[in-house]
Amino acid sequence: MPIRPTTMKPLRVRGNASALAQVATRRRGTTDELGYDGDWERLRDYHRAREPLCRHCAQRGKVVPMKHVDHIIDIIDAPELRLQDDNLQSLCASCHSRKTRRQQNAGSFTEVFYPTWLRAPAGEVTLISGPPACGKTTYVRAHASSTDVIIDVDAIVESLFKINPYERTQQQLLTATHERNRLLTQPMKPHQVMWFVTTATGHDHWWWQEKLTPARVVALSCTLKQCIERLRADATRQSTLERQIAIAHAWFNPRKR
Ligand SMILES: [Zn+2]
Repeated sequence: MPIRPTTMKPLRVRGNASALAQVATRRRGTTDELGYDGDWERLRDYHRAREPLCRHCAQRGKVVPMKHVDHIIDIIDAPELRLQDDNLQSLCASCHSRKTRRQQNAGSFTEVFYPTWLRAPAGEVTLISGPPACGKTTYVRAHASSTDVIIDVDAIVESLFKINPYERTQQQLLTATHERNRLLTQPMKPHQVMWFVTTATGHDHWWWQEKLTPARVVALSCTLKQCIERLRADATRQSTLERQIAIAHAWFNPRKR
């Protein structure tokens, strides 16, 4: 079944000034940590009350009180799952530090994924959004001209590392995201259009919309069922199918609590 894109007018800043200001405030407060804002704090407290014991210790038959609420799939791997309750687990201090030790040298991820310093590109931007495997890349290929700038982290991973982008490591994603940020700051030529492809939802989607001030937002839509069928049918996504499906669920239900 062909995908029918919806083209929306970007919301006016004037009409949504307070919502946008809230997003901006949330982001400003998160420069040192991994997107740990007010929404996160509420979800964390809710999770803490429901799972009072360390999950890793419990799996080894030990009863140890929890200390930290941890993202099972790291924020760096799937920023979309930041506020997804079923992506959280309780861990004790030692299990948590064992898990996070390997991330310590990677720096401040949020600031790379959501570059607060970024200025809106001086040219026309089209923002393409939608769940995984709904045809964003195909849509852009069909509509962009050969001189346009296409900004899609998966495509950047593929061209930098010559790998299946869904099998990237954390470090490769981080490198590709730095490259995306560099492309976002490149001067644009007259008549060039920048196509920015994202799976961001909820606040994160608004954040990009506020940052890039796109002339057009194209929302590619399909149902969750269609999305999962396409993920299952895509050979390149099989090794990371579980994560892809989790991202699809998050996309269709971004504030599941
Ligand atoms: Zn433990």
